[in-house]
Amino acid sequence: MARLVMKFGGTSVATIERIRNVARHVKREVEAGYQVAVVVSAMSGKTNELVGWVNEASKLYDPREYDAVVASGEQVTSGLLAVTLQNMGLPARSWQGWQIPISTDDAHGSARILEIDGTAVTARLEAGEVAVIAGFQGIHLPSGRITTLGRGGSDTSAVAVAAAIGAERCDIYTDVDGVYTTDPRMVPKAKRLKRVAFEEMLEMASLGAKVLQVRSVELAMVHKVRTFVRSSFEDADAPHMGTAEAAGTLICDEEEIMANQMEAEVVTGIAFARDEAQVSIRRVADKPGIAAAVFGPLADAHINVDMIVQNVSADGFTDITFTVPSADFERAKAALEQARAAIGYETLEGEGDVVKVSVIGIGMRSHAGVAAKAFQALAAKGINIRAITTSEIKISILIDAAYTELAVRTLHSLYGLDS
Ligand code: ADP
Ligand code: ASP
Ligand code: MG
Repeated sequence: MARLVMKFGGTSVATIERIRNVARHVKREVEAGYQVAVVVSAMSGKTNELVGWVNEASKLYDPREYDAVVASGEQVTSGLLAVTLQNMGLPARSWQGWQIPISTDDAHGSARILEIDGTAVTARLEAGEVAVIAGFQGIHLPSGRITTLGRGGSDTSAVAVAAAIGAERCDIYTDVDGVYTTDPRMVPKAKRLKRVAFEEMLEMASLGAKVLQVRSVELAMVHKVRTFVRSSFEDADAPHMGTAEAAGTLICDEEEIMANQMEAEVVTGIAFARDEAQVSIRRVADKPGIAAAVFGPLADAHINVDMIVQNVSADGFTDITFTVPSADFERAKAALEQARAAIGYETLEGEGDVVKVSVIGIGMRSHAGVAAKAFQALAAKGINIRAITTSEIKISILIDAAYTELAVRTLHSLYGLDS
């Protein structure tokens, strides 16, 4: 019998009434003949509250205990949904990460899944029981300690479970009915995409579209898990819900997209990320080895550098500008202050109030001039570009945070994405 994974995010399980609604979605799929594994998040706001409590208890906390605390939100919802399903006459039980087990490494707070042993769960699925799995958590088997997968990690749990039990599809139920050309909360004209290629979704998620956790898209791409993003707020029993007509966005192979349309759109979507900060060092000698002198200390401090711009050199000196995650901003400045003698720069400047806006689309591979068009449009609106990076399928532009909305809306219209 075919298997299905259904994942429900925080807003979808925010109250007991909403958990009942989730149970109706599950019942529909069980009655359609699927063996169903459900993955749940904590009730909306719960994880933030738990994280807050840990920080209040101790600024320098033991990350193993952080995980012990924050994993508890999902334990609650898995039990509540199992009880609700049982009450509706469906056999169901809850599974914590350690009970399956979902084995991870020991990077507490952002652990990676190493392996999922699907044996116990599949035996119970075969026996007709719904598995309600707590998302976001796993276990580091050698130490026996609970781990969590990083914020938004229930998406990753769901895709990993789908791969482990050989599910036909992984349905991600959330508070929007699919992946949009940009965050529909910022741009009401954004339109829902019917299909998005794994690669594009990976770019969109890494560049700020938090509708799916980045790791979940990587896993879906590697294991070829067809992932369908859809809304839990639609009537669970509407006739089209269990059919191919259901509203949502399928994340799939590029081939599947090409089979359904003649040509890929040039631009699929616009994403933005507020979690980067800009660092500039002025008047560094323009000579071999300088980039190594600047970026070596940052690498040693495990700080990821993203966008890099080096000015043309004047009288043998140049300026270097780059971005780092906002969370590492202070550490990056400290590392560079410490290496000042070795690098030999004049001033070190930082700017935290910046945003990276990105234009994404696999169609860009075969179209020239996409970037030039963006630069002109932003210039016409008086938006200054601080840094640029490009790849085959994306252009990222760093701007002042105050212009985020204007830039996103401008680019959205420019590439014909307004509905
Ligand atoms: P969940 O709690 O179900 O995991 P999230 O809040 O993590 O839900 O993700 C859903 C949210 O992602 C939406 O409410 C929306 O504001 C945001 N989002 C950002 N970019 C996009 C996009 N391109 N398409 C759809 N939603 C997006
Ligand atoms: N509850 C976790 C979080 O808020 C995991 C998730 O919702 O995906 O980050
Ligand atoms: Mg989420």
